[in-house]
Amino acid sequence: VFDSENGILVAMPVSEKKLIGRIRRQASGGRIVAGRAVAKGVGDDCAVLRIPRGHEMLVTTDFSIEGVHFRRDWYGPELVGRRCLTRGLSDIAAMGGEPKATFLSLAVPGNLAQGWVDRFLKGLLALAAEFKVVLAGGDTAQSPSGILADIIVVGSVPRGKAVLRSGARAGEFIYVTGELGGAAAEIAVLSSQFSVLSQGAKGKVAVPRITVGRWLRRRGLASAMIDLSDGLSTDLEHVCAESGVGAEIRAEAIPRARIGEGKLVELDFALHGGDDYELLFTSAKRIPARVAGVRVTRIGRVTESTGKSSGMRMIGEDGKSRRLRAEGWEHFADKKK
Ligand SMILES: [Mg+2]
Repeated sequence: VFDSENGILVAMPVSEKKLIGRIRRQASGGRIVAGRAVAKGVGDDCAVLRIPRGHEMLVTTDFSIEGVHFRRDWYGPELVGRRCLTRGLSDIAAMGGEPKATFLSLAVPGNLAQGWVDRFLKGLLALAAEFKVVLAGGDTAQSPSGILADIIVVGSVPRGKAVLRSGARAGEFIYVTGELGGAAAEIAVLSSQFSVLSQGAKGKVAVPRITVGRWLRRRGLASAMIDLSDGLSTDLEHVCAESGVGAEIRAEAIPRARIGEGKLVELDFALHGGDDYELLFTSAKRIPARVAGVRVTRIGRVTESTGKSSGMRMIGEDGKSRRLRAEGWEHFADKKK
C-alpha cells in the first residue's frame, strides 16, 4: 500500500517518499480504528478489511482530473480534496450503503507545491472523519502534466439489500434530495468572470447523502436509486434504461439551488448540471418532505417504457409536455468549448 516501486509513471525521487510519509501521518486513523472495518491500513502490501457478517461489499472508483473535473485557479485544494471523496461517498449513499474505507491514488506534477497536497489531503480527510471512513491505502506517482486523483471507496450493505438502478416500476413517484444546479451555475459564473477562489473559502460544499440513503434502504422505501453526479436528465435516464421504464417530471417541481444573493439558478442548471451529489430515487410510497434534515421533493412519476428511446418527458412551466433528453455533463462540456 502506497507502494512506490510499481508506478508506471516516472517515480518521484525524494519527494514521493516524503509524500507517502505525510499521507501516512495524516491518515493515521488507519490504526485508530483498526479492529473495526480496517484490520490493517497504510504500511503493508495490501489493506485488510473486515466486512460485517451478512453484508456484501460495495466498491466504487472515481477520477478527479485537473482540467476535466476541477481547476486549480477556481477552487482551493481543500475543496478539491473534499469533492474527490464526495464523489465516492455519494456512490455508496446511492446504494443505501455504509462507507468503510477509502483508497487514494494520487499523481502530481513534480513542481507542485507540497502545501497544495497537504491542503488537498486536509479537505479529503476532514470529510473522511465526518463519515468515519479510513484512508487505508493508495499509490503516488509523478504526473507529466496536471493532477490526477483516483479515489476508491469501499462500503457494505446487508446482503441483497443494495438499492439498484434497476428497480423502478411504472406508476411510482420520482424524488430528489436537496436543491439542484448550484455547482453547475457556479462553474458558469466562474468561467464567465474568471474569478479566483484561491483560498477555497467559496465553492459549493456538497454533503454526501449517506444518512438519507441508509434511511430509505432500512425502510425498504426506495425501489431504485442513483446519485446526481452527471446531471438530473442524464442520471434519470440511467435509471430509466436500467429499469426499462420511462419518466415524466414537472419543471416547476424541480428544487433549484440558490447562488449569489439568493437568486434561484436557471432551470437548465438544475436539469442538466452535474456535481450536485444529491440522490434521485423512485418509490411507490409518499416520502416525508424532510428526511434526516434533508429536503426531499417529488418531481414526477415513473411511466411505462415507450420502446427504443428513453421515454423521458417533462411538463414545462407553460404546462406543455415535451420530450426530455439527457444533456448532463456533455451538454456543459460542449458549451464551454
Ligand atoms: Mg453514481
